[in-house]
Amino acid sequence: MVENLSSEHLIQLEDKHGAHNYHPLPVVLAKGEGVYVWDAEGKKYFDFLSAYSAVNQGHCHPRIVSAMTEQAQTLTLTSRAFYNDALGPYEKYITEYFDFDKVLPMNTGAEAVETAIKLCRKWAYEKKGIAENEAKIIVCENNFHGRTTTIVSFSNDETARKNFGPFTPGFIRIPYDDVEALEKALEEENVAGFLAEPIQGEAGVFTPSEDYISKCQALCKAKNVLFIADEVQTGIARTGSLLAVCGNCSCEKHCEQQPTYTRPDVLILGKALSGGAYPVSAVLADNEIMEVIKPGQHGSTFGGNPVAAKVAIAALDVVKDEKLSLNARKLGELFRNEMNRIIEKTDLVVSVRGKGMLNAIIVNDSPDSETAWNLCVALKDNGLLAKPTHGNIIRFAPPLVMTEEQLLECVSIIEKTILAFKK
Ligand SMILES: *Cc1c(COP(=O)(O)O)cnc(C)c1O
Repeated sequence: MVENLSSEHLIQLEDKHGAHNYHPLPVVLAKGEGVYVWDAEGKKYFDFLSAYSAVNQGHCHPRIVSAMTEQAQTLTLTSRAFYNDALGPYEKYITEYFDFDKVLPMNTGAEAVETAIKLCRKWAYEKKGIAENEAKIIVCENNFHGRTTTIVSFSNDETARKNFGPFTPGFIRIPYDDVEALEKALEEENVAGFLAEPIQGEAGVFTPSEDYISKCQALCKAKNVLFIADEVQTGIARTGSLLAVCGNCSCEKHCEQQPTYTRPDVLILGKALSGGAYPVSAVLADNEIMEVIKPGQHGSTFGGNPVAAKVAIAALDVVKDEKLSLNARKLGELFRNEMNRIIEKTDLVVSVRGKGMLNAIIVNDSPDSETAWNLCVALKDNGLLAKPTHGNIIRFAPPLVMTEEQLLECVSIIEKTILAFKK
């Protein structure tokens, strides 16, 4: 039994028996509800990471948990060798929700990105007429799209790549938020797609210029190149819109008439698609693209299983019914204003950036310093959990079910911690 073990003991167990592919903050979580998590000793924290934006709907949302447990007692997995009675209704639901003809269901974000790459290549050969094995996909510097061999092949994060080669060819990397660089790369031969995050999350919440994504989409369209949006982290209300490609619209439904909406040819979702209850990811596209994939050419044993289908419907229902996009937008503005107020009072933080409730503060020290890490440890001691990304950047991304009152409580924890912090 692993009940009632101390945090210290539990950390030792992971250290001894688990691969060391993560470096967690020293806190062992045992329970979650809404915006809160509790450690093994029962201490309560605000969660300001939300499992990298998987838990937008809050921890253990009752509607999601009940959809999951109900389906888990009925039918969990059939594989796609047979039909199941939950998948069709889910496919209808999600394609109407995001307004695409078809969905290809997978489990993790990386699998969905792999799916989009395969889909793009196949489309290039079978529809665009690129010669076999010649297709190229343009990607951005400092991208994060997951951890598979192909995906790390086009990363420029040395930690993620070193000694994992040989790498998959067929990618062109250009600077992010640089329309001219895309224009130039599109002049190369055999370009099939452009894969990008509308806001770079892992890179440190790097928000591009307002019109970057719409300009990219227009350039791609003119060249018959697929614009593939990886919204695994930015999507599903996180940035104050249903999708980050919705621009500045925070209505809870897909609405193409919004002038700020930029429609990707291929949309990749994961993380909050299940509210963190279960691994569920998806690739959405219209018939003309999706139809290039035929039986046997791609799949996953767990993709499209009935539990995932029920969980995803519940998770998306919650986003709509609880107006999470609007809440993320309102709270995000308040949060950045409050951070800017704190920044006036300290030399420890240089700036705050982000959109909706995907934000980051930049700590005034080199990325190699321990300062941001130590600040996160101090925040933890004061009851708020966040983690540095790329050294001196701390991402702040709480669940979107937060109230204004709770957010202000968090702001005061952050303020108190920053003002008391000694390097
Ligand atoms: C997290 C993430 C992924 C990978 O998702 P996994 O479920 O960890 O495989 C892909 N793209 C983006 C933008 C992400 O943030």
